[in-house]
Amino acid sequence: MSTAPGYPRWQTAPPTAPHIEAQKAVRDARSPRDPLAAEPSRRRVYRLRPPDGAGRGASERLRAMLDEEQLAAVEGARGRALVLASAGSGKTRTIVATVAHLIETGVPPEEILLVTFTRRAAREMTDRAERLAGADLSRMTAGTFHSVCRRILRRYGPVVGVPSSFSILDAEDQAEVAAMARDAILAGMTERPALPKPQAIVGWASLAAESGRGVGEVVLAANPRLGDRVAIIEAIAAGYAERKAAMAALDYADLLVLVARLLDEQPRVRARLAATHRWVLVDELHDVNPVQARIVESLAAEGANLIAVADPDQSIYSWRGADPGVVTRFADAAGTRVFPLQTNYRSTPEVVALAQATLPAGNPFGKRLRARRPASGDAPVIAHLATVQDEARFVVQRIADCITEGRAPGDIAVLYRAHHHSVDLQLALAQAGVEFELFSGARFVESAHVKDAMAFCRLRHNPRDELAWHRALRLFDRVGAATAAKVWERIGAEPDPLAAAAALRPAGAAGSGLRRFAETIAAVAATTRPDEIVLHVARADWYRDHLQRTYPNWRDREGDLARLAELAARAPGLDRFLGDLQLAERLEADEDVSGPARRVALSSVHQAKGLEWPVVFVLQVEPGSFPSGWAVSEGNLDEEERLFYVAVTRAADELYLCRPIAARRPWDTGADAMVLNSGQGFLDRDLGDLVEEWSVR
Ligand code: ATP
Ligand code: MG
Repeated sequence: MSTAPGYPRWQTAPPTAPHIEAQKAVRDARSPRDPLAAEPSRRRVYRLRPPDGAGRGASERLRAMLDEEQLAAVEGARGRALVLASAGSGKTRTIVATVAHLIETGVPPEEILLVTFTRRAAREMTDRAERLAGADLSRMTAGTFHSVCRRILRRYGPVVGVPSSFSILDAEDQAEVAAMARDAILAGMTERPALPKPQAIVGWASLAAESGRGVGEVVLAANPRLGDRVAIIEAIAAGYAERKAAMAALDYADLLVLVARLLDEQPRVRARLAATHRWVLVDELHDVNPVQARIVESLAAEGANLIAVADPDQSIYSWRGADPGVVTRFADAAGTRVFPLQTNYRSTPEVVALAQATLPAGNPFGKRLRARRPASGDAPVIAHLATVQDEARFVVQRIADCITEGRAPGDIAVLYRAHHHSVDLQLALAQAGVEFELFSGARFVESAHVKDAMAFCRLRHNPRDELAWHRALRLFDRVGAATAAKVWERIGAEPDPLAAAAALRPAGAAGSGLRRFAETIAAVAATTRPDEIVLHVARADWYRDHLQRTYPNWRDREGDLARLAELAARAPGLDRFLGDLQLAERLEADEDVSGPARRVALSSVHQAKGLEWPVVFVLQVEPGSFPSGWAVSEGNLDEEERLFYVAVTRAADELYLCRPIAARRPWDTGADAMVLNSGQGFLDRDLGDLVEEWSVR
């Protein structure tokens, strides 16, 4: 789409009449001063030489903490350099040392730009580099791509028509703006289709912008069932972009895309930024998306030094647009010097050997790794179990043993592929009084879909539970807060609200949602088994449509509900089921205020990236769970293999891979039921003496 003349260039669709006032405001808000005018272009930069002996070797202090290969990488870090190495080989340590080395050789901190994957990593690495260099690094730029881009746009945005006073929309704001766009479009339609939730549309629009694809293409790839609604989703995405522009607001994707465009189109800005950030350091290049890669490459093309570290075997964010090919292209680009690191410092030789044996196929660099630490005599354990409940009991018991043997709770982590795999363990740990810290998803009992299904159990259990009725009602098509309140007013006045709700016979097209509601309540009223209620909701077409429309990760959420149904099936009745879960909720809430004591970590593998623990458990290493069922059924196993590799390589001393047979049985969703073949698991190959096998009884 072309840009309307006189309108901000970052807007993709021409504005419509109502936005003209806002549009003027955007123009007025633009800084009148050319941000490049401060330094007239005819002035040449005369660069002072670094004070004392730049280019000399690393200091004694740095030498003492690095091995030969790491030292070579630190001292050779200029021009284009790529530290390419496997997990635990000191990549992050090398990048921290490089920062310290640059400072020690006289590079001013403000010339260094350090890009990391999380804000926490930026903080930690800056602290470590400060201590190493013994210098104040507050003038160094360190942060995620998003925060770095925000700073750049504050300064140079006006050059591409972005007012320097732009606001940033968080996820909730984004959804609200998209909802406004949707409502405006639906207002002009007689037949209103069922549409994905605004946050899902925003997610696709962002992924499209960041991967340079069309919104329609991204939508179809994410959910082929939306084929008939692609055009309207595209229109909503366009309306969303328009409104953002009228509000002078940017979303997260805009931050990246606009900086990339700024660098592409404005050679003077590019030169200026490359002169400011003469040293660009990137941790975890393997999880960078194409726009992010373009940004750092633009700076490098302008003469900035570009130093990156990567392990393509740990690329686990392709679902968010990361492109593992970035590493290969970086390595192959002219002038790149590649520094391999081949010693693993993190793990015992036993863990390293297993990691090597299960290394993802198609490793383009043939990396080899030798273990530095002495053998521990403890091979990684494969624990064979019958059920996930046994798994939870096993992990709790082993954790207790480890703590008795002298480990601190903070030395222990339990990792899993999907948040819902941790549910049984969360309950078992709470029961055993073991405190834990969650690094994945919302707490199970607090997540929206679990609360949805629980609402039906609650209203079945206590038909006066007004909150549960409201929650349940609003799940249905075209039932908003006002309608829900009206329905409750009517059925709440009856002696038996369940019977009254089941007897509702609303008329007209708008009544279809309420008719389905009445049918659902009739079914719920016919049973007192909590598992039957949960399954009735979870398997209903209207609810599955709701999940798919609302959440990009609907498949994981369906898995959560299957777990909830299993928990419900084990409960002696509705009353106990509700009581147990509400208690779990309170335990968790108490824990949140119990202070910074170090606890056992429960983390998704994604969140565990870059971290390490002496003792690591991995849950449900069974096809259908990990690798996930949909990855198996879609034959998309590469990323799962990398994810498994990340999981294994988090362990320093002890590694337990749990295989509950029951986890292999996928949730039978009728038409979608999957057939799993043996041999699709990570551990189905012959691992010989690399592992010790335990049968847990
Ligand atoms: P990942 O791929 O998981 O991000 P990484 O390659 O970034 O790992 P680091 O986290 O930097 O590896 O290092 C792994 C562990 O090895 C850390 O505990 C680190 O302190 C230690 N380590 C790295 N290099 C050395 C060294 N030369 N001497 C002693 N310990 C080291
Ligand atoms: Mg690292």
